[in-house]
Amino acid sequence: MTDSVLIIGAGPVGLTMALELARFQVPVRLIDKMTERSDTSRAVVLWSRTLELLDRIGATCDLLGIGNRVSVANILSGHRLISCVDFSGVDSPYPFALMVPQCDTESVLERHLQRLGVRSELGVELLAFDQHDDGVTVQLRSPDGHETSERFGWLIGCDGAHSLTRHRLGLKFGGKTLDSDWTLGDFHMTGSPFPLSELATYWHEDGVIIFLPMAPGRYRVVANLGPSTGDAPAPPSIEHFQQIVDTRGPGGLVLTNPLWTTTFRINERQVETYRAGRVFLAGDAAHVHSPAGGQGMNTGMQDACNLAWKLAMVCRHIATAPVLLDSYSLERHPVGAAVIETAGRLTKAATLRHRAAQHIRNFVAHAVMGLAPVQRAMAQSMTEIAVGYPHSPLNGQASPVSPKPGARLCPIAGEIPFGAGNAPLFNLCAAPDTAAKIIAGHPSLIEPTVRPAAMTGSILLVRPDGYLAAAAADGDWRQITAYLERFAAAAGETH
Ligand SMILES: Cc1cc2nc3c(=O)[nH]c(=O)nc-3n(C[C@H](O)[C@H](O)[C@H](O)COP(=O)(O)OP(=O)(O)OC[C@H]3O[C@@H](n4cnc5c(N)ncnc54)[C@H](O)[C@@H]3O)c2cc1C
Repeated sequence: MTDSVLIIGAGPVGLTMALELARFQVPVRLIDKMTERSDTSRAVVLWSRTLELLDRIGATCDLLGIGNRVSVANILSGHRLISCVDFSGVDSPYPFALMVPQCDTESVLERHLQRLGVRSELGVELLAFDQHDDGVTVQLRSPDGHETSERFGWLIGCDGAHSLTRHRLGLKFGGKTLDSDWTLGDFHMTGSPFPLSELATYWHEDGVIIFLPMAPGRYRVVANLGPSTGDAPAPPSIEHFQQIVDTRGPGGLVLTNPLWTTTFRINERQVETYRAGRVFLAGDAAHVHSPAGGQGMNTGMQDACNLAWKLAMVCRHIATAPVLLDSYSLERHPVGAAVIETAGRLTKAATLRHRAAQHIRNFVAHAVMGLAPVQRAMAQSMTEIAVGYPHSPLNGQASPVSPKPGARLCPIAGEIPFGAGNAPLFNLCAAPDTAAKIIAGHPSLIEPTVRPAAMTGSILLVRPDGYLAAAAADGDWRQITAYLERFAAAAGETH
């Protein structure tokens, strides 16, 4: 059996997956049938949780250097402010949305991947594959048209919404296509009443328009065009865009110099499982939804961070076994489903067609979204710091003084993030003598560098992706040992 991994698709999710596996020293190949990279902006938001996770590979610093930090999201109707969600209070070293064109995010990821000695192989296409007990045989076509049959231990389909991997597995991509057409464009724009650090959504009786500030004078503009007629319409001209902006926006905005415009329809779909034997799905191959909230790419990149350490544990023979790899779909499927639901609800609210319903929406939204707890919850949800795995089969026991197992532990600014090492191991926060006793039992599962107890008198066992595995009071260190014993037995620890 081989422990190598083949990743199909070098979009943001495939790149993140390759980076995570490569830094954990797993032999990996990353292929993509495109012959050159797109230079279009597509997904433009990187949320706090994604930035926290990318910090483990050192990419966040580069992204911060090229992105625009947005800390407030406004919803308005004309000049009336309906709601304003402030991200600056979220508990993260990155309390903002970082606006970066997708092509630039991909360049940063590609650069870090090359630093680890891996390159995206462009022009290489997956044609077919077959699974066996001990590996996957794939048919690949190289840029010169030559076809080869090769064998890998594992296959990961990060091959986008039309995923061949998903089709070949025969998995249904259940859901629906919404019946409205949308457009987006990147423009130079003057006249915004908001600073560069605030994005604005305008609810108008004709539809919605969103202004995302990318850089001084440069904006992403998104709007719905009305009911779909079936075929994808041509992108509106700049004059048509300006007309939509004049009608739905605050007035006084002037668009010039379109950099990129396109139209699209919204799909809300999800595959029933993210794993079939030795084959996994991640990113758009597993879930697609409305761009409202800008969660699509982020959710996919976080799929990659969830799967990579588990697969690396298996490939490096630190642990083997079903529960570990099964937990990928069990943890990430509910996250994808929740994103589909929330983004769908936002889209529905923004595109209500009946006047009376619009008035009620504006009234209720103003009342409800003005409440501090609602605003806090919205900020935590949008920044994805609220994502956790409370029902994971990997969760151990809780401690009264710590967060619940499955919860994200907030990284501390200036400290090396959890899971930043080159081995997929648990991190331990404990007093030195307690840590020594725990590590002695399972040295192959725990990072040798122990962190001080995060809370006095407590022991935290943290997964390589920064979520809490188990916790105990300092005197109860045997509970952590018991967790590791159960994990080792269930996951088939090999040492
Ligand atoms: C116009 C537009 C605007 C968007 N705006 C946002 C936004 O604001 N916020 C947000 O979060 N998301 C947004 N998205 C979605 C976002 O771009 C996707 O969620 C993201 O690109 C998904 O990444 P991925 O790596 O899963 O898939 P993709 O980026 O689709 O990459 C899949 C790759 O797989 C390759 N591939 C496919 N089949 C094969 C094969 N058989 N062999 C080899 N390679 C193959 C493809 O060439 C492709 O490069 C937008 C998308 C579009 C198109």
